[in-house]
Amino acid sequence: MSAQIIDGKAFAATVREKVASHVSRLKEVHGITPGLAVVLVGDDPASEVYVRNKGKQTLECGMNSYEHKLPDDTSEADLLALVQQLNADPTVHGILVQLPLPDHLDSDLVINAIDPAKDVDGFHISNVGLLSTGQKAMVPCTPLGCLMMLRQQHGSLSGLTAVVVGRSNIVGKPMAQLLLRDSCTVTIAHSRTKNIEELCRTADIVVAAVGRPEMVTGDWIKPGATVIDVGINRIAAPERGPEKMKLVGDVEFASACRVAGAITPVPGGVGPMTIACLLANTVTACARANGLPEPEGLTA
Ligand code: NDP
Repeated sequence: MSAQIIDGKAFAATVREKVASHVSRLKEVHGITPGLAVVLVGDDPASEVYVRNKGKQTLECGMNSYEHKLPDDTSEADLLALVQQLNADPTVHGILVQLPLPDHLDSDLVINAIDPAKDVDGFHISNVGLLSTGQKAMVPCTPLGCLMMLRQQHGSLSGLTAVVVGRSNIVGKPMAQLLLRDSCTVTIAHSRTKNIEELCRTADIVVAAVGRPEMVTGDWIKPGATVIDVGINRIAAPERGPEKMKLVGDVEFASACRVAGAITPVPGGVGPMTIACLLANTVTACARANGLPEPEGLTA
């Protein structure tokens, strides 16, 4: 058996097209241009790349992109003042503060200062509560992207069993909430879970969000199951030459492919969906802020 590869890159392109078409309708019919503000503190090279990509894709979808780059030694008061300014700005519909923040800044304090209606990362405590009580929330981008791929793969997820490996606030927990909302029977596994392999082997859906290269192997997977690999791990690739590196997921792709029914690759699976869902959340936030219908197929 060789699993169907779920092409996240192609799927993300369709999400971006839907976003762009909704943006052009907002502009033409209502004279509104959605705007996304991204705040980057410090000069972490990986974060700079993410922020650049986000800005580029925001503009390509026809939205306004506002980048705020602050020095590494920015004070908490100055950062909070910028967040308040963006909260009050009617041209800004989405605000994202790039994490991680430098150590002297309290991430929870800063994230919870964002207007929940503009919290396109879905990390504000109000959005966490709304999601977990089944109400309309801004949903974290990575799990939202995973959910979209699973819905596309299965149609209805109702009654399926799912194991989410990882319980972080940004991936594992919201992923489990979303699957529960779609009526899956959900188990969350983590570093203290006993018999994790056996647990995974019972699942119709396995979502791996661990941060451990190739931890989930083919013998953890039930034949025919769908495997969503959230992990992004950079490891040495001596087969490609000295000092060469490569990206792998939390799933050992080759062995899992032989057992699973469908699987996301790394790279080219969940990764591209994350930014696409950020754009989707921005257009959703804009529609909600203006009392307009939400774009179809772009929300949870
Ligand atoms: P965290 O480090 O915050 O959480 C990792 C989770 O994995 C924890 O809950 C931890 O358990 C669990 N874990 C660690 N070791 C084991 C183990 N041996 N067995 C079972 N569970 C274990 O990571 P994130 O959720 O932020 O990210 C997970 C991965 O996803 C990373 O590779 C990250 O790079 C990637 N990622 C990818 C994104 C994308 O766009 N594709 C976006 C965000 C993240 P415990 O709580 O018990 O310590």
